[in-house]
Amino acid sequence: MPDVLANYHTHTWRCMHAHGTEEAYVRRAIAAGFSVLGFADHTPWPYTSGFVSDMRMRWDQFPGYLETVLALREKYAGQIKIPVGLECEAFPAWFGWLRDLKAQCLDYVLLGNHYDGTDEGDHSVFSDRGGFYFGRCSRAEQVMRYAVRTIAGMETGIYDYVAHPDLFCHVYASFDAECAAASRDICQAAVALGIPLEYNLLGIQYHARIHEWDKLGYPCRQFWEIAAQYPVKAIIGFDAHAPEHLERRDLYDEGLAFLRELGIEVLAYLDKPGLR
Ligand SMILES: [Zn+2]
Ligand SMILES: [Zn+2]
Repeated sequence: MPDVLANYHTHTWRCMHAHGTEEAYVRRAIAAGFSVLGFADHTPWPYTSGFVSDMRMRWDQFPGYLETVLALREKYAGQIKIPVGLECEAFPAWFGWLRDLKAQCLDYVLLGNHYDGTDEGDHSVFSDRGGFYFGRCSRAEQVMRYAVRTIAGMETGIYDYVAHPDLFCHVYASFDAECAAASRDICQAAVALGIPLEYNLLGIQYHARIHEWDKLGYPCRQFWEIAAQYPVKAIIGFDAHAPEHLERRDLYDEGLAFLRELGIEVLAYLDKPGLR
């Protein structure tokens, strides 16, 4: 087994689209040789509109999330490190809220920029009111909005890495000039701000489930070819939504080989206190 293995992108049942107990993930990670397993479930946001998301924990579930992960950290101390984080969009209205929450109780925060400014409202409609799901980008202006929003998040200094930075490619038809421009902007910001970009292993599994995926998908080869033109640092994330996702060492090794072939530096760890 080469290298050491760390994963900072693990979900829990609270997001309603992941399954397995937290302890099942931890035990699977130990068995698979991980030395770090970070939980970064989809953040609750402090909505004031009464909106209820169907893909993230409620705010009243957050204490239980923390408590569960911290108890596992104690129980498995000496066998595996278990930092606690959240995967969060870049919603400007709540940057201050998130900064405070991180200072109070989180080891790290991932920038998973799924929605345009908020997720309240219709995720299929792209407008200045926000709410659009960036995994549905099919037009150039949507791709450019993704880049602008993502970079604004990176500039806050709150986020420790960018999860699936190439999410905008998910159902985009072909890699055009705007995709290239958005990729360059994100990579430039990553270098200037010292923020690693994630090579997301769940994206690969998602496309593999669908026969003959005829969209770009993510991880997107063209995005990473552009990334290779900058001194970006990459990190591989399993984005585990089930304990067995942590067993895809084959995907990890393929991703590692792909990134190294491009000459991209791949971080084994996030080099911050409590994270390695
Ligand atoms: Zn995500
Ligand atoms: Zn995720």
